[in-house]
Amino acid sequence: MTVTLEKSVEDFIATPRRLFIDGQWVEAASGKVFATPNPATGETLAQVAEADAEDVDRAVRAARRAFEGPWSRMTASQRGRIIWRIGDLIEEHAEELAQLESLDNGKPLSVARVADIPLAAELFRYMAGWATKIEGNTITLSPPFAPDAAFHAYTLREPVGVVGQIIPWNFPLLMAAWKLGPALATGNTIVLKPAEQTPLSALRLAELMAEAGLPDGVVNVLPGYGETAGAALAAHDGVNKIAFTGSTEVGKLIVHAAAGNLKKVTLELGGKSPNIVFDDADPELAIPGAANAIFFNHGQCCVAGSRLFVHESRFEQVVAGVADIARGITLGPGLHPDTQMGPLVSDEQLRRVTGYLDSGREEGARTVAGGSRYGERGYFVEPTVLVDTRPDMAVVREEIFGPVVVASPFADLDEIAAQANDTAYGLGAGIWTRDISKAHALARKIRAGTVWINCYNVFDAALPFGGYKQSGWGREMGHEVLEAYTEVKAVCAQLHT
Ligand code: NAP
Ligand code: MG
Repeated sequence: MTVTLEKSVEDFIATPRRLFIDGQWVEAASGKVFATPNPATGETLAQVAEADAEDVDRAVRAARRAFEGPWSRMTASQRGRIIWRIGDLIEEHAEELAQLESLDNGKPLSVARVADIPLAAELFRYMAGWATKIEGNTITLSPPFAPDAAFHAYTLREPVGVVGQIIPWNFPLLMAAWKLGPALATGNTIVLKPAEQTPLSALRLAELMAEAGLPDGVVNVLPGYGETAGAALAAHDGVNKIAFTGSTEVGKLIVHAAAGNLKKVTLELGGKSPNIVFDDADPELAIPGAANAIFFNHGQCCVAGSRLFVHESRFEQVVAGVADIARGITLGPGLHPDTQMGPLVSDEQLRRVTGYLDSGREEGARTVAGGSRYGERGYFVEPTVLVDTRPDMAVVREEIFGPVVVASPFADLDEIAAQANDTAYGLGAGIWTRDISKAHALARKIRAGTVWINCYNVFDAALPFGGYKQSGWGREMGHEVLEAYTEVKAVCAQLHT
């Protein structure tokens, strides 16, 4: 028994979806389409037009016209009201969007309802408020070569221009919101490429954005493949900035592609985040917290707490507790009301994650819970806990992006800081302890963009998010993100009196 689909969702997936360029729904120039599968069954969910370079070019030109035209003529207040209205419309269509997200991505409907959709609505509302608060400064000058001269100098914060945005499949609507919200609040126009696995909610969002009053061409949505549409967008000379979320490997390709016209680049990449449980942590919080840190969204979180470190005196207790939770998680299709964990997003990810399970075993890791594919149909993987790992194993060093945690014991604070930082990544970290001094002292030692203390996976539109080291460049959300979408212009006038 699964949830009955809303009629709007049935209609949406029954019709082949097209590209959204300049406010119009159009076929791809090549006429090509691709299928987006339902990860719970492997069957085709919907047909979608497949953008490539020619469509990217058309969309970039539309975005440029909108940037120079209607969007720049609106007041900041008018833009802010439209962005706020997008948040309202997401909320009004919450159930429909949650169902689309669950169908396309595989995540439990119950999770999409309480996390993905309301967080996306809140993101637009938070950013709507910033539209009227983008300010420069006045600056006092004292040039030694003109001591008697008077100047009036100030800065303007201006939009970067046409922005290309490439997003992944793990939180399709929310990643679109993280990217679009700040770009719109600062007056940019956008060409967005959703992930090939999950294009549907971004296409529905395009309809809602038009309904909210966004002028034609301000946001263009181009489903398609990374190697074609994504690469063309990253390399396009008419694009002033590219914002990317995805693998570190593709992030490096984006940097190369962007070099042609030196467009601005921000990157939100992979992670292998440490989650650290001290001997004085409350086990009632730390054990479910450690399980949630890795198993939320099936481990398909860039910030997943995938390396669990537990003080040696508590190691067995915490690992046994996390393993019990892992074994108790109900797997099933996202639309089934009892489902606590859905399938991975694709056959490719299933093979990738089970490949890591094999490599971990071959290298000598011991499986305490899970360890295999679940069922024959769909892309399900059992929540898995591995122990007896060594720091050089692939399962410890590489981002698995599935429900797989490696657990190891530690002895003291200095040792754990070094172990936590022994990674090419630096996205997130968790600390579980009752000792506030220890918690904050360790938070300073960890080289990561987010440190959670006695919690994990807490996201807020006001909290900046991003990575140290190979986890990325720049920050999303909070007021920090506004810098990524604006240029600063210094204006200097001499006052001749
Ligand atoms: P990915 O290839 O990095 O995909 C992310 C986005 O980049 C997608 O929209 C993708 O298009 C696009 N893309 C791919 N190649 C491109 C290129 N040459 N130029 C421009 N854009 C390109 O990630 P994936 O293949 O979906 O997943 C592989 C691994 O990446 C995962 O196992 C995980 O480790 C990591 N990952 C990290 C995050 C994160 O949030 N940090 C999110 C997703 C995946 P397509 O949809 O066509 O691939
Ligand atoms: Mg890919």
